[in-house]
Amino acid sequence: MKLTFIGADHEVTGSCHFLEAAGKKILIDCGMEQGRDTYQNVPLPVKPEEIDCVFVTHAHIDHTGLLPLLGAQGFRGKIYATRATADLCEIMLLDSAGIQEMEAEWKSRKAERKGEKAAPPLYTSRDAVEIMRRFIPCPYESEIQVSEDIAIRFRDVGHLLGSSAIEIRVREEGKEQILVFSGDVGNTNQPLINDPQKFSRADYLIIESTYGDRSHGPKSDYKTQLAAVLQETFDRGGNVVIPSFAIGRTQEILYFIRQIKQEHLVSGHDGFPVYVDSPLAVRATSIFNEHSDDCFDPEAREIVARGANPITFPKLRLTLTSEESKEINYVKEPKVILSASGMCDAGRIRHHLKYNLWREDSTVLFVGYQAEGSLGRVLQEGAEEVTLFGESIRVRAKIATLPGISGHADREGLLDWASGFEAPPRKTFVVHGDDAVVQPFADLLHEKLGFETYAPYSGTIWDLTNNMCLKETTGVPVEKAADKQLTGAAAPDCVKVSSGGIMERLQKDAGELAALVHAGRGIANKDLQKLAEEIEALCRKWKYIEDQENREKKR
Ligand SMILES: [Zn+2]
Repeated sequence: MKLTFIGADHEVTGSCHFLEAAGKKILIDCGMEQGRDTYQNVPLPVKPEEIDCVFVTHAHIDHTGLLPLLGAQGFRGKIYATRATADLCEIMLLDSAGIQEMEAEWKSRKAERKGEKAAPPLYTSRDAVEIMRRFIPCPYESEIQVSEDIAIRFRDVGHLLGSSAIEIRVREEGKEQILVFSGDVGNTNQPLINDPQKFSRADYLIIESTYGDRSHGPKSDYKTQLAAVLQETFDRGGNVVIPSFAIGRTQEILYFIRQIKQEHLVSGHDGFPVYVDSPLAVRATSIFNEHSDDCFDPEAREIVARGANPITFPKLRLTLTSEESKEINYVKEPKVILSASGMCDAGRIRHHLKYNLWREDSTVLFVGYQAEGSLGRVLQEGAEEVTLFGESIRVRAKIATLPGISGHADREGLLDWASGFEAPPRKTFVVHGDDAVVQPFADLLHEKLGFETYAPYSGTIWDLTNNMCLKETTGVPVEKAADKQLTGAAAPDCVKVSSGGIMERLQKDAGELAALVHAGRGIANKDLQKLAEEIEALCRKWKYIEDQENREKKR
């Protein structure tokens, strides 16, 4: 039995493991690298058609995003996931395919103008629809026989609706070994979903470490803080605009708003309307409702048992069409607008920002992480003016942030989850954590729980029969500022694929520069002159490089 580490090693996205056990070739997760990419992922050591099956821990794109590509490249096996994960994958992979197609179209138009060949999308909506046929939706806690010698069990780890850690039992030469893949371990006391469930036995543990270096601190009273923001804003006569991730965070906010309404925590504005204006969020909300019996925590289930719905209330409006979306702007009474994307870089939220940022009475409330360079971060950092749809918008609305309800366990949470094992596993592999986090967290597991740990880089191969390293690798850093995002799912003879993250980054940078220029009124004239000179020099330099490249091509 052999395990090859493909992705999310010394970094946090692109989760993928390749297991060879009892004559089968198996992938555990098949994620896309997103955002900041630190190390290159090695390609899969076999062709996609040789893979027998995939086990999926949860629906987030950094664990599933390359499944459609795997299918397009020839994978014909089965994909095992919990029922809710399978349902969420259906909307998320289709959404991801839409983004790939849009990006490719944009690049193609640019290429055509240059007289170059257009690049196809990484995968298409059709690939996403096709891969969904391969899913086997599974219940939690049941033993599922995958082959004569391999059985798996999904256990709820409270990170996202349907999220799981996977226990794999492998029988080889009459001896059974147990592997546990943690997936992403959730936080405790999150609304709607269960707390992470522990395991008592494993020969090998593969554990995430996203927040293995920090503590979330004391839990904040989210409901009261949110109620205070609503009260203040509604008293001024404004709207509360909440940029929110469509799946998970939006439903959590709905849960809190239902409580706020039920307990009359906002006075004088009874029956205020709440709009969920994101087609993806609307679909995700109905998937949440369909899984109240197998995924909700006892508190939410009790509400359902009383015949109510924990994420629905009077005057909740779910808008699907763009006409419905536009009509929200004509509603005069103070309201809550929940819309995506969570970092304001795309989607309908940008329209709502355009209509509310200039209003002194409105509030833009951030409820999730805002990556550096995103419009959300620019607003959080106090930009006085931003550009939306080519128009300068003065920022007069109140910009507020609620301390995040994190979907991930912190250092103590991870240690507590790992403490469920009655005896230390033969080896514990620490993955899915930043470069600076994995080794310290591996040391902590050793110190606190006596675990023998190892933090592998992509390409490391471990012999699980004899518990020894077959190939040790060191990370190959991704070249900075180059279009080098590599997927982990390319077969050896397939081209390594770029997911085009650098263009998004450049556009963000350009947006930030524009915001800086627009906000420049308060800056001294001599500094503005210097800024202008620097921008002009930068333009001259890159124009020169482009001209030179064109000359090279003509030769
Ligand atoms: Zn996740």
